[in-house]
Amino acid sequence: MSKTVRPQPGLDPIVTYIPGKPIEDVKRELGLDDVIKLASNENPLGVSPKALAAMREALPNVNLYPDGASYKLRQALADHFGLLMDQVAVGNGADDLILELSMAYIGEGDQVIASYSSFPLYDIYTHAMRGVMIKTPLAPGYRIDLDAMAAAITHRTKMIYVCNPNNPTGTIVTGEELDAFVERVPDHVLIVIDEAYYEMVEDNAFPDSFSYLRAGARNVFILRTFSKAYGLAGLRLGYGFGHLDAVAPLRKIKPAFNVNVLAQAAGLAALEDTEFLEHSVAMNCTGRHYLYREFDRLGLDYAQSHTNFVLVRIGPSADYVQQTLLHRGIIVRPCAIYNLPEFLRISIGTPEQNARFVATLEEILQGQ
Ligand SMILES: *Cc1c(COP(=O)(O)O)cnc(C)c1O
Repeated sequence: MSKTVRPQPGLDPIVTYIPGKPIEDVKRELGLDDVIKLASNENPLGVSPKALAAMREALPNVNLYPDGASYKLRQALADHFGLLMDQVAVGNGADDLILELSMAYIGEGDQVIASYSSFPLYDIYTHAMRGVMIKTPLAPGYRIDLDAMAAAITHRTKMIYVCNPNNPTGTIVTGEELDAFVERVPDHVLIVIDEAYYEMVEDNAFPDSFSYLRAGARNVFILRTFSKAYGLAGLRLGYGFGHLDAVAPLRKIKPAFNVNVLAQAAGLAALEDTEFLEHSVAMNCTGRHYLYREFDRLGLDYAQSHTNFVLVRIGPSADYVQQTLLHRGIIVRPCAIYNLPEFLRISIGTPEQNARFVATLEEILQGQ
C-alpha cells in the first residue's frame, strides 16, 4: 500500500479556483496576437499615474523589508474614512483579508452564510478552516437575498458574507435593506460586507456601511480594494475596517510583511488620485450603458450592474459562446462556478474593447 501525505480534510470539498486566463496564456495556447481580457474586472485605463510615480520613487527601497504595520498607509486610510488607525487592516489584496478573517474567526463546525452566486474565495477559506458553508439562492433581479440569509442563521453561525455590489451579478442591496438586516443579525455573527466595487457605485440607495462602525457595531467588517477602480490589481493591495475588537485578532495571524514596499507607496498616492478615479468611473458608466443598449438590441437579458462588469444571460450555449469568443481573442468569464451556467460575466473595457466584444458576440450568436 502506498503511503502519501494527505492534506487536512478541510481541503476535500474545495474546488480549485480558476481565475480569468491571462492574456499571454491565451496568445500562446491559441496562437493569437491580438487578445483582450474582459474577464477579471481590471481597470482598462491602466494604473493611477500618481501611484505609478510613487512606486518608481519607492523602487530603490525594496532591499529593506516593508513596514509590517503599514503605519502610514493605515493612518492615511483612517484619516480618509474618518476612523481610528487601529480600525484599519491592510492586506495582500482583499483576498488576503478574507483569508485572515477566516483564520481569525472560523473554527471547525462553525457555519458561514453566503449567496450561491457570490465570490468563490468565501467558500474556499471557510472549508479550509473546516467551517460549514450555507448557501442562499439569489432573490429576483439577481440580487442577494438578505431575508434568506437572516433566516439561515443558527447558534452555530459565525460569519455572513454580504458582497455589495455582488460579484458576479453586479447588483446591490440598498441601505434600507442592509440597515434592517444588520439590526436583525445577532451579535455573535460577524457580517463581512465586501465592497470591492464600492467606487463604481452611483446609486444613492447604496448603504453607508460606515454608519454601523460609527454607531459602534462590533460585528461589522467592511472590505475594500485598490484592485478595481484604482487599477492596481497586479500589485495586490486591499483594506478593511471594523471595530477595534474585531480588527485586533487579525494582527495575530497576518503574514508579517503582507503589504510590500511598492504597494504601501502606491496605496498612499492612489488615495489622493481623485482625477484618475473620476475618469475611471465616468468611462465605466459610459461603457455599462453601451453594453445595456447592445444587449437590449440583441435581445439578451442582463442584471442591473453597479460595478465594472455586466452579467449577461446567453442561454444553454453560454459555454460555446465563451469558448468561441476566446478563440477570437476575447477573454470573458464563464459563470458555472457561480451557479449561473447560462451566463457570462463581461468586464467593461475601453470603448474600442466593448465594441469589439459586441461585434464578435453578435457574429457568434448569428452563426449558431
Ligand atoms: C476582486 C474582488 C476581491 C479581491 O480583490 P483583491 O484586492 O484583488 O484581492 C474581493 N471581493 C470581491 C467581491 C472581488 O470581486
